[in-house]
Amino acid sequence: MDIIMATGNSNKVREIREMLDGSDLNIISMKDAGIDVEIIEDGLTFEDNARIKAETVRDACGKIVIADDSGLEIDFLGGEPGIHSSRFMGEDTSYDIKNAALLEKLDGVPDEKRSARFICAMAIAYPDRKTSVFRGVFEGRIAYKSAGENGFGYDPIFYLPERGCTSAELLPEEKNSISHRGQALKMAVEELQKLV
Ligand code: IMP
Repeated sequence: MDIIMATGNSNKVREIREMLDGSDLNIISMKDAGIDVEIIEDGLTFEDNARIKAETVRDACGKIVIADDSGLEIDFLGGEPGIHSSRFMGEDTSYDIKNAALLEKLDGVPDEKRSARFICAMAIAYPDRKTSVFRGVFEGRIAYKSAGENGFGYDPIFYLPERGCTSAELLPEEKNSISHRGQALKMAVEELQKLV
């Protein structure tokens, strides 16, 4: 079954394809499907934004569309960057710079106040029925320094105390099995599997 993924982020398409490898669900990027619509992400929650993305693209193509909205909540910063994660310090600013700035903001902050989590809301918009939204949460802490080359975005500063490494040091399959996106996708796939 073909599913359109409403994102321009090739990292997300890659992670989701990896997770669905071997299933009969085939993820097609918006670009490959030739869909070019403006998505106005003005929701106030991850769930709202995932739903807006999925429904906007569904309205443009009439197919089943999956979309996620995700981000990093840092408790010491009152939940920021949160829903602004990709826009934090500017969309085109490199993550080396963004990550260094966050480490600087948490300079001298002790372990117990460095709690953070990645959140992912995953929406499936159907042509002929309601939209479903699922949430995955991945708990960790902000590291003291960047480490690791895998993953993307804020992964190098997201420390997992029980593993003793950052999420950028996990193998892709390890990250996918526990991540916010992995959890939300698992729930979304369970629903999609009922349709095939
Ligand atoms: P959006 O969901 O496209 O609005 O972007 C979410 C942003 O959150 C990404 O561009 C990353 O900066 C960050 N983010 C979400 N998930 C991850 C992850 O698994 N690792 C690292 N950064 C992430």
